[in-house]
Amino acid sequence: MSTDPANAADAAADAGPPERSLDPDDWERFRALGHRVFDDLTDYLKSVSERPVWQPLPADARALFRQSLPLEGSGDAAVYDEVRRLVLPFPTGNIHPRFWSWVGGTGTPTQVLADMVISAMNSCSLGFDEAASSHIELQLLDWLKALLGFPADASGLLVSGGSMANLVGLAVARTRATPYDVRDTGVDIAEYPRLVYYASAELHSSVRKAIELLGLGSQSLHTVPVRDDYTIDPDALREAIRSDRESGRLPACIIGNAGTVNTGACDPLDELADVAEQEDLWLHVDGAFGAFLRLSPRHRGLAAGLERADSLAFDLHKWLYVQYNCGGVLVRGARLHRETFSVLPSYLRKLERGLASGPLNFSEYGVQLSRSFHALRAWMALKSAGARRYAEQIAQNVDQAAYLDAIIGRHSSLQRLAPTAMNIVNFRYYDATLDEDRLNDLNAEILMQLHERGIAAPSSTELRGRFSIRVAICNHRSRRADFEALVDGVVRIGHELRRRR
Ligand SMILES: *Cc1c(COP(=O)(O)O)cnc(C)c1O
Repeated sequence: MSTDPANAADAAADAGPPERSLDPDDWERFRALGHRVFDDLTDYLKSVSERPVWQPLPADARALFRQSLPLEGSGDAAVYDEVRRLVLPFPTGNIHPRFWSWVGGTGTPTQVLADMVISAMNSCSLGFDEAASSHIELQLLDWLKALLGFPADASGLLVSGGSMANLVGLAVARTRATPYDVRDTGVDIAEYPRLVYYASAELHSSVRKAIELLGLGSQSLHTVPVRDDYTIDPDALREAIRSDRESGRLPACIIGNAGTVNTGACDPLDELADVAEQEDLWLHVDGAFGAFLRLSPRHRGLAAGLERADSLAFDLHKWLYVQYNCGGVLVRGARLHRETFSVLPSYLRKLERGLASGPLNFSEYGVQLSRSFHALRAWMALKSAGARRYAEQIAQNVDQAAYLDAIIGRHSSLQRLAPTAMNIVNFRYYDATLDEDRLNDLNAEILMQLHERGIAAPSSTELRGRFSIRVAICNHRSRRADFEALVDGVVRIGHELRRRR
């Protein structure tokens, strides 16, 4: 290269404007802002119970969310100020002790620390990248296999949530059942019998979605009636399999529930495993939240047989109190699992040494390629608190459900709508002078007012035509007094509404 100063000046002119990055211009100001954010968030979590569980978005927040894309930036400090004023006060509410909607998980402060590390490292978590993230995910999966009773040679993967975990498990079942190369031809019902997947009528909507996405069609889903306790009727299942075989269809997979979304009912998984063995079917268990009952020695009997599943879907972001998003799937049969998903282009090839020499390519076991390093959250949380603490928290939630169930049982204005099997309670305000339609309207109004007044946030469902106030407890912050406040709120609002009509 020439050292002539005139040439160097020409080169500088040719290089164009100065190169930049998206890093802060002033790292010390960034550090100071970061400390402020962290202080605010610590206060925010510490004082969560002093705020209403939910509050509506005010006009200035709605206006902020309608602003168009800024072409010029206003800087981290100004944007954070807007977030602090107009975003942070309006969460879904699942960090609050009185949140029991859907199957919302709580998260823990430890994982806020993990999130900073995850974000700073920003690993791609491909698995074949030789990086801490690959090894930590595999270690976490090994821990989960041990916790959930799966063999060490089972394959597994962290995914976005239970929906994706169900899709993965049900896809492997399709590979196993099709007598042809379904990845090559697609589902072929012209030449081959239609596959049938069995699940109870209480199945989660994501199971139906997965069956549709797998190209099987919802006609391939045979829903089996449930008994009074909302568990699958095994005799009806056997009969369904027999009649499908008779009419030339090909039974492929039984989907068992370890905790139905409506009532927390656990199907008789041991019996389903027996049927699957006798009929040579795949057993997939949707254990989105209920799988973690296995941690509690006192309660694991409720989900007995779970460990016999061929594939198991679970959500760490529900009853393992992991921050969103984090679900997982375990598969007994790594070969079949890999056969279902493996596509290895040259640009994703593992090498013998260097960056691309990591343990395995996670994309061969699922749908996603690039993923966040979400394994670190669960890993840090489990190491920090220990599995025993987690088991205690889960047991505490089951005990709280029983406590709430008992208070409801003693109250003349309340009625249970389903047996309380684990951590879900269904009930309604009851008045014998009202017909079912009026009771449904009244209870919907009670629920909306519970939310609007910021008292508590259960969700709703419909059980045998009845509108139910549904309390799903995956919340380590709830206390017995919170459930008492819920019951008081329901009764008070119910009485008020009755007086007004
Ligand atoms: C929540 C849930 C799912 C879906 O899980 P996501 O993490 O929301 O995708 C599936 N099955 C059951 C029983 C669930 O409770």
